[in-house]
Amino acid sequence: MKKIEKQSALDALNILMAVSCTCTLKETATQAVPGDGSADADILIIGEAPGKKEDEQGVPFVGASGKFLAEMLASINLTREDIYITNIVKYRPPDNRDPSLEEILDCEEWLHEQIQIIRPKIIVTLGRHAMEHFVPGGKISEAHGKIFKKDFSTIGEQTFFVLYHPAAALYNGSLRQTLIEDFKKIPAVVEKIKRGQ
Ligand code: URA
Repeated sequence: MKKIEKQSALDALNILMAVSCTCTLKETATQAVPGDGSADADILIIGEAPGKKEDEQGVPFVGASGKFLAEMLASINLTREDIYITNIVKYRPPDNRDPSLEEILDCEEWLHEQIQIIRPKIIVTLGRHAMEHFVPGGKISEAHGKIFKKDFSTIGEQTFFVLYHPAAALYNGSLRQTLIEDFKKIPAVVEKIKRGQ
């Protein structure tokens, strides 16, 4: 698919799923937060769930975590327009609680269809919940900064790169440093995948 076709397919999906998604978080959220960025991105970043600011604006990662993420993207010479960013659940959980398994599963079709349209070279998971969805059973303290190849019936074979969540790392000096260092590995990992290694 050409870039322009991917963008319109993704826009259409996001409009359709905002109507048909059965996630009960819809009842308390202001609006859906489908995702943001380029439909033709090599890098797809997947966080956990929208927070207050994201719920108000309908755009992911616009609060403090988003600012930190933008700084890390700048450190590898990228901006938000170069990547696509979304969450495993598309609606804000009340009081920013963790999303339940049921809520994650209710939003799964939407996420997996986004992946099928974008077909990124790498999927970067932020935090425990996004990791658990694709690399189940892992411990983030061991899996961060590492690559995992997984095959799913819905999305085919994908390469995942596990990171700590920026919100967890924001106020924890050593996690913050670890996340910054792991993030800097992304360009080399993408290059390797492009070369087919
Ligand atoms: N944290 C997330 O996981 N996602 C957002 O969109 C914002 C904060």
